[in-house]
Amino acid sequence: MMAIIIELQKYRAIGTVEECREAMERQKMKKPKREIRGRDLKIGNVTFRAGTTVYLCHSCKKGITGSDDYCRWCGQAIDWSE
Ligand SMILES: [Zn+2]
Repeated sequence: MMAIIIELQKYRAIGTVEECREAMERQKMKKPKREIRGRDLKIGNVTFRAGTTVYLCHSCKKGITGSDDYCRWCGQAIDWSE
């Protein structure tokens, strides 16, 4: 009985069921969305000029760079394989 209570407390500390589900979803690698920019996009120190191909996070649709294994905005794991 005691063990169950401790488990429940741990569970509450992690967050709601919805938060847990979202966190687990982000652990699954997802391919980024390719997009050719219509206008300049600045990500960190890098500026992607209009007309260049950029990648957008599958989950939050924000711009990411090829060196991001995880989305810098939402933590989504990025699958760079073809
Ligand atoms: Zn994201």
